[in-house]
Amino acid sequence: MSLEVLEKSDHKLTFVVEGLSIEMANAIRRIILTEIPAMAIDEVIILKNDSPLYDEIISHRLGMIPLKTDLKTYNLPRDCSCGGFGCPLCQVSLTCEVTNTTNMPLEIYSGDLKSNDPKIIPVDPKIPIVKIDKNDKVILEAYAILGVAKEHVKWQAVSNIFYRFYPIIDFDDTKCTKCTDKCIVFRMCPEKLYDFSDKKTPKLVDNYWKTCTLCNSCQQVCPEGAIKVNWKDNTYIFSIESDGVLPFNILIEKVFEIFLGKIDEFTERLGDIEIES
Ligand SMILES: [Zn+2]
Repeated sequence: MSLEVLEKSDHKLTFVVEGLSIEMANAIRRIILTEIPAMAIDEVIILKNDSPLYDEIISHRLGMIPLKTDLKTYNLPRDCSCGGFGCPLCQVSLTCEVTNTTNMPLEIYSGDLKSNDPKIIPVDPKIPIVKIDKNDKVILEAYAILGVAKEHVKWQAVSNIFYRFYPIIDFDDTKCTKCTDKCIVFRMCPEKLYDFSDKKTPKLVDNYWKTCTLCNSCQQVCPEGAIKVNWKDNTYIFSIESDGVLPFNILIEKVFEIFLGKIDEFTERLGDIEIES
């Protein structure tokens, strides 16, 4: 198996992986989407709420704020030695106390949440929670825990993950003779993957596979049959978008940890089944 990273930033990772079956690619996608634990607010105690929003709406908004996650320090409540009742190893407390002393309406942001663990804070301090009028107050206490997205989407560790086939376009320019002055492929390709600047023979641009969506329109419209669109077997281009909850290296490590755990569990359960011969 080989892997090549195409793009890496704090919020996006794109890579090509070769020698991977589609079943394995899909297992990776599904584990990343639904089973990587992430921190999110799960319980809120509202002590004072003068805002126009109901307590429930504020609680829901707090739950959806992405929090930076530390998987080394914290346990999932079901795996914690406290039995899930809440202890410093499975729960983080965040408080918010804001009084509007100005003469203008005041916006309360995610940055107004004060965490008892400086590592577990909102990924962005400018996520709006609610607006309050002058002399109004909001006082609340929230508890964040680890969870997984198959239980609630607020625990989703990535914003999006998808993979696509690796395109291969065979362009036989010896067949391309009759429509050189008004190349239809050059005009029809939605990703503009054909260069027709010399007005004679269209050429495929370099690295066309990075943006080709395998829409097949070039193969369909080329009157000379000079184009064949295909894809490489067992090769996929993965894209992962993150809101910054977990760094990508921890995310990838965790995928394989969970996957191997599932294999072990499967083998163990298989051993318990008596198969009649
Ligand atoms: Zn605990």
